[in-house]
Amino acid sequence: MKILECSTIDIAPTISRLLKIPMVPPAGKPIQEVERYAKERGCKRAVIIVVDSLGYSLYKYFSPLMKNLSKIAEKGLLFRCRSPATITSPAIASIFTGYLPEEHNIYSTADIYTERAKDSENPRLKSVMEWAYRAGMKASAVIESEGAESFRGRIKDFYGVPNSEDILDYDLQITNYAVLALKEKPDVLAVHLRALDRFSHRAESWDELKKAAKAIDENLGEIYRNAEKGTIFFICGDHAIHGGKKWLKSAEGEAIKNHRQNLVALIVACKQEA
Ligand SMILES: [Zn+2]
Repeated sequence: MKILECSTIDIAPTISRLLKIPMVPPAGKPIQEVERYAKERGCKRAVIIVVDSLGYSLYKYFSPLMKNLSKIAEKGLLFRCRSPATITSPAIASIFTGYLPEEHNIYSTADIYTERAKDSENPRLKSVMEWAYRAGMKASAVIESEGAESFRGRIKDFYGVPNSEDILDYDLQITNYAVLALKEKPDVLAVHLRALDRFSHRAESWDELKKAAKAIDENLGEIYRNAEKGTIFFICGDHAIHGGKKWLKSAEGEAIKNHRQNLVALIVACKQEA
């Protein structure tokens, strides 16, 4: 099977194209395979779920374990996706805006405010959710409190969860808010799940990391189940896993290469059943 490839900066322009969200064309380009896939299925809404640290090789390794995500992927498309940053803030900003880090200059949450202070209308700082909201569509974001706060005045519906030592509980709260947000039938919803990333820093064994992967999978299943028919999902990693030395000890050549190239998994699937 041919491996599909893309960059995470292509996600925002793809959603803009599919849902006809007016957007100053960013650096990323609409993904043609997704356009073709969506055209046959009539997708009306989009959900972006950033699964922190879901590298491409890590996804391949965990996919037998992540049953919900595998099932979603079976009905959709799997991409080996380049990410332009190895840390979370710039990587996620690239997913949401469609620009490279050197273009949006967001390397931390504080940078969002600094950059906006320079030019509050800079299109490179606008997320696809914000473009949707400005076009009169309904846009939601469910992320960590400080990040969520940066959406104030930019979109109407944002839900923040305070950072927590108990990251499994944190993700559960994120998931509950995501389900709540879906009840409002948003055109675009963005969600960020973090357990895999936190465990990659703190866990010492694959068994512990598996626990995080399973929890993430449960949350993905829950969000997917609560979405309307005709919702297209973009489930992606923001960067390859941190702690490469620890996790790549027994990895084979291909996995090491994918990790060095910072390739992440992107699963695109349109929910067909109600
Ligand atoms: Zn991250």
